[in-house]
Amino acid sequence: MADSTPPPWVWTDLDPGKLERSWRDLADWVDWLEDAYAPWVLLPPCWPDHEGLRTELRMYWYWHRWVQRKAVNPIDGVRWHQELRRSAQAWRDLANCRHDPPMPHRQQIRAGERRRRDDYIAEAIRAETQTAPPALSASQQPASPQHQSSPQVQQFPDPR
Ligand SMILES: [Zn+2]
Repeated sequence: MADSTPPPWVWTDLDPGKLERSWRDLADWVDWLEDAYAPWVLLPPCWPDHEGLRTELRMYWYWHRWVQRKAVNPIDGVRWHQELRRSAQAWRDLANCRHDPPMPHRQQIRAGERRRRDDYIAEAIRAETQTAPPALSASQQPASPQHQSSPQVQQFPDPR
């Protein structure tokens, strides 16, 4: 078994024909899931476009297949159901997704959020630098090794 072989629920290496068949099979399984596990499982039609959701559904699909064909202990099936119900609760947040296609302004909002995050990071670094114990002169150096690195903090290069 080669270490580089991706697990069957990772489809990045599939050829286009196999990829399309896999998507069709997954969609059929998700249809079945929604029917069989209504009203617990309630998904928006745009589920294939939500990366986290489609990834999780794909894993549930393979997990279900394993439970149906390979599991030897009923606890495995019970666990699948318990986890499914828990995930289905989270999926409900998306059930009414109106799914506007990704808009340029969404990217701008994300970029703005990242700039704000970077400001917060800079502020946190400034605060930590200011509250760090002042560097001691050579004659005041404690013997404790944990203080030996503090003067070096000042020497960190500016990454920008
Ligand atoms: Zn959506």
